[in-house]
Amino acid sequence: MRPLIAAIDLSAIRHNYAVAKRCAPGREAFAVVKANAYGHGVREVVSVLHGEADGFAVACLEEAAEVRALDDQTRILLLEGCFEAVEYQLAAQLGLDVVVQGSEQAAALLAAPLSRPLNVWLKLDSGMHRLGFGEDELRHCHARLKGAPQVAELNLISHFACADLRGHELNERQLESFLGLLELDFDRRSLANSAAILTMPAAHMDWVRPGIMLYGASPFADISAHELGLKPAMSLSAKLIAVREVAMGESVGYGATWEAARPSRIGTVSCGYADGYPRHAPSGTPVIVNGQRVPLAGRVSMDMLAVDLTDLPSAVVGDPVELWGAQLPVDELAAACGTIGYELLTKVTARVPRRYL
Ligand code: PLP
Repeated sequence: MRPLIAAIDLSAIRHNYAVAKRCAPGREAFAVVKANAYGHGVREVVSVLHGEADGFAVACLEEAAEVRALDDQTRILLLEGCFEAVEYQLAAQLGLDVVVQGSEQAAALLAAPLSRPLNVWLKLDSGMHRLGFGEDELRHCHARLKGAPQVAELNLISHFACADLRGHELNERQLESFLGLLELDFDRRSLANSAAILTMPAAHMDWVRPGIMLYGASPFADISAHELGLKPAMSLSAKLIAVREVAMGESVGYGATWEAARPSRIGTVSCGYADGYPRHAPSGTPVIVNGQRVPLAGRVSMDMLAVDLTDLPSAVVGDPVELWGAQLPVDELAAACGTIGYELLTKVTARVPRRYL
């Protein structure tokens, strides 16, 4: 087998879910498992949280159906909602909670003959301006949906744009906008993602929605997952598949972007951008070989990348390489590449075998 594996520690995910629950005591939590549980494998993540998670949240109906097939009891929140009557009918069959984020969705819901009423989460656009109703529109929609035969619970939901930026003035404005609707008769309210769970207790409401923290990555650029008490769930491991000497002045890789400033030893690692390693990672990005940090050298190829082993003369073909994991937090790699842990985790491709611990 190709020496590349994403090892996933499911006990870390359980631990991280418990951290979310401890941060928001007395609140219920939708474990966000969209995008194949942020790349960790939705089946395995739902199974390990079965009986523990109060609910799951997914992006689309296909994901909801997959989760429902694994768990016929727990609440599943459909974040993007439904657009057609037939989708609402499927949502009712699956017993989903659905977000209604626009007037088209509300109209389709009111026109849908359903086998049973749905728990509806009306989405407030509290300031992100991506999805949701403005405050007045939301009041109007609340009046239309309250008591409608298609609606069981009528709930309020919104989403922060900048919760990862502590102290950003938009956070307060969004919270105020949400609290401004307290006078409306909603059954449940939900606002907090991981960053707000960790740092904004006033935003916890009835249900929180932890995503990235479940997987042991930090939503903040300036606080590590370790400092937050989170355990990394995924480590992406490969091997050295070749080692060569390169003369001073010679280049390495496509585009010849890295040049040996001294006689160098170059290792080739069995992981490339077609596995999900970011192609735009610059030379110098840390890679762990045999527990030691060495710098990436040159462009990442489709199936391989190169590292400068000159300062690690003991390294030989077959040695273990960690692209991210316990020794190199995914957030640190993400920062080095100008992206976020979310993107790296969700982009590990299907050809990388997942091994569950
Ligand atoms: N709620 C909604 C509506 C989301 O879209 C997401 C993720 O994108 C989350 C919660 C979870 O956010 P995070 O992964 O930052 O905890």
